[in-house]
Amino acid sequence: MAASFANTQVSGKVATRQVAQGRVAPFRATGVRKAAGAQTSSSLFAGVSVPQRVFAMGGARSVSRAVQTVFAMRDGAVLEGRKLRVAVIGGGPSGACAAETLAKGGVETYLIERKLDNCKPCGGAIPLCMVEEFDLPMEIIDRKVTKMKMISPSNREVDVGKTLSETEWIGMCRREVFDDYLRNRAQKLGANIVNGLFMRSEQQGSDGPFTIHYTSYADGSKMGVPATMEVDIIIGADGANSRVAKEIDAGEYDYAIAFQERIRIPDDKMKYYENLAEMYVGDDVSPDFYGWVFPKYDHVAVGTGTVVNKTAIKQYQQATRDRAKVKTEGGKIIRVEAHPIPEHPRPRRCKGRVALVGDAAGYVTKCSGEGIYFAAKSGRMCAEAIVEGSANGTKMAGEDAIRVYLDKWDRKYWATYKVLDILQKVFYRSNPAREAFVELCEDSYVQKMTFDSYLYKTVVPGNPLDDVKLLVRTVSSLIRSNALRSANSNSVDVSFGSKANSERVATA
Ligand SMILES: Cc1cc2nc3c(=O)[nH]c(=O)nc-3n(C[C@H](O)[C@H](O)[C@H](O)COP(=O)(O)OP(=O)(O)OC[C@H]3O[C@@H](n4cnc5c(N)ncnc54)[C@H](O)[C@@H]3O)c2cc1C
Repeated sequence: MAASFANTQVSGKVATRQVAQGRVAPFRATGVRKAAGAQTSSSLFAGVSVPQRVFAMGGARSVSRAVQTVFAMRDGAVLEGRKLRVAVIGGGPSGACAAETLAKGGVETYLIERKLDNCKPCGGAIPLCMVEEFDLPMEIIDRKVTKMKMISPSNREVDVGKTLSETEWIGMCRREVFDDYLRNRAQKLGANIVNGLFMRSEQQGSDGPFTIHYTSYADGSKMGVPATMEVDIIIGADGANSRVAKEIDAGEYDYAIAFQERIRIPDDKMKYYENLAEMYVGDDVSPDFYGWVFPKYDHVAVGTGTVVNKTAIKQYQQATRDRAKVKTEGGKIIRVEAHPIPEHPRPRRCKGRVALVGDAAGYVTKCSGEGIYFAAKSGRMCAEAIVEGSANGTKMAGEDAIRVYLDKWDRKYWATYKVLDILQKVFYRSNPAREAFVELCEDSYVQKMTFDSYLYKTVVPGNPLDDVKLLVRTVSSLIRSNALRSANSNSVDVSFGSKANSERVATA
């Protein structure tokens, strides 16, 4: 980690000068030491062609008016002697990829991350296409999963990696390694990495710069010191509990709570999970999601999630562990973690010169709970739109540029989110439906289509004849599962809300 702290000091020194009886905005020095190749403004007025004598003008009103004029810069205005300044809040995959693209594109970039050795609670599974698209080195990929077992409520196991070729796999990473690599790469390309906790921001009028207030940890203390910086655009990449989203009233989203335990298991048991991941479905492990055992570097991650009955998450976790008991026996829990997973995009993802990306925007797919690729991709797409809209950081850019990213995003991924949403509603709603789902997974055609769309993030055109066969199989499986469901309706145990939960606990 030492390397990532090099060149990233923020002094926290705030040169604030109240002007003329507090009637105008203060001037601040950012005090950010830049990474090689990056440019830094030393004050709000750096690079803006304002005669210095303006500050000497007498009377609060004249100064105030002069300052207001300087603050406001409409989109498209040429920036003289300085570059566009963008702060990216959050250094996960979305923030790091946004920062990298901005810095490469000539924008003065600040990536503010509260914890540079953050270990985001995450399964760490990434699709194959991400490796090439984001030029990821093999050292940051711990395991290549080539086999996957879907396990039904009645413990019927179906192997779903059969159609993978020798060169196809799912990558498994540790997020502390993965995120660190992406941030360091952004820094090498010119982004300024700031170890700080974003607190709030304020904008000087709708066309003016933002003052960002954050707690700087550059001095190495845990408490940190208050600091500010000024930028033209903010990208909120600060995850599911985004403060940036709250600031722009982005609206709430439904979220799942996901729980995960990292378990170090004996070597012979680890051998079984060497290149194998398991997914468990059933009311016991989750009423609306799945439980998983994913192989990590030298341990397995066992977890589950739910939206509809969050208070029962530990009970679902216990059930997931029970189902995998024989295969993980003798294991030692080395880490317990929990985190929200957004269920759908926020109602608002942009306001003026503020944009949201990744989990902050709500880009996790239903059914699979996949978010790393979409976070990195949205960060990159948002940054590309800003680089283009600002002519490589030479012009002011804002909402129009950000909306280009949102339009492209929605066109590219709307259908993916919708299909996975429908699949979750159809197949995760009852145990008979889950049995039908696992049964369908046995079909080679289903496996090929599923893996191709997961690994390559493209909707692969199918074979019309196989599509019809698949439709018939799906419908008949669902009819069968519905019949079973009605027959068992008196005994089906689906829990919604804490009452059902407490009843379950009481009878456990
Ligand atoms: C248990 C679990 C398992 C998962 N498994 C998978 C999986 O296997 N595969 C997959 O694709 N997805 C998985 N996901 C989803 C995935 O983790 C997220 O979609 C992904 O991390 C989103 O990336 P992000 O950059 O948008 O946000 P995050 O990764 O959450 O990064 C946000 C960053 O912002 C920083 N931050 C937050 N607030 C502030 C602040 N105020 N100031 C400064 N910094 C701040 C945080 O420290 C963090 O580094 C899982 C999620 C959970 C909870």
